[in-house]
Amino acid sequence: MKIKDASYVISSPSVDKTPKPDKPEFAFIGRSNVGKSSLINMLCGRENLAKTSSSPGKTKLINHFIVNSEWYLVDLPGYGYAKISQSERKKWEKMIEDYLRKRENLLNVFVLIDSRHLPQKIDLQFVNQLGEWQIPFTLVFTKSDKEKPGVVDRHIKAFLNAMRETWQFLPQHFVTSATKKQGKDDILALIQGLIKN
Ligand code: GDP
Repeated sequence: MKIKDASYVISSPSVDKTPKPDKPEFAFIGRSNVGKSSLINMLCGRENLAKTSSSPGKTKLINHFIVNSEWYLVDLPGYGYAKISQSERKKWEKMIEDYLRKRENLLNVFVLIDSRHLPQKIDLQFVNQLGEWQIPFTLVFTKSDKEKPGVVDRHIKAFLNAMRETWQFLPQHFVTSATKKQGKDDILALIQGLIKN
């Protein structure tokens, strides 16, 4: 898929305020600072579509972008940001759960995992939760240029192995680097395939 145009539509505080669900939709989520904005910018070929934020966890809204007038890309607020209050965390959880479970045009969630780390509990908890809710998702291991390939491979294998404890079938995964533009074509091909089905 070639991205001809991509632009910001709206930021919504809850799923009932999001645009009419009349186009296929793909959401991106992960821990704060995982490289989500950089990945979205890389996919869309734009420098500043999603802001690469210097203060992690700042964005707390459901951010819609329209791509090729054909599908919605959704930038969801990151999880695992230590400096938020209990009540803010609860608000985030409710907003994300409502969005993920009620958004009828949502075709796939891309869960971003930082490839520099061994499996993190918070990421495993999140994917297990998606499983319970039966939401389709794909793993995206980000920042692959930051470690030697062998280390990245080891971290990916460890994550998939940890998932094997609860999952019979493992989800598809991609390895990406926003710096090196790695993974872009594969992710866009998956999106294209899901739109066409
Ligand atoms: P977000 O908070 O998840 O949106 O993360 P950002 O996209 O703002 O990225 C967080 C930091 O990691 C920034 O300093 C980025 O420049 C850096 N970063 C993101 N992706 C990559 C990548 O693929 N390679 C490298 N080397 N750095 C990255």
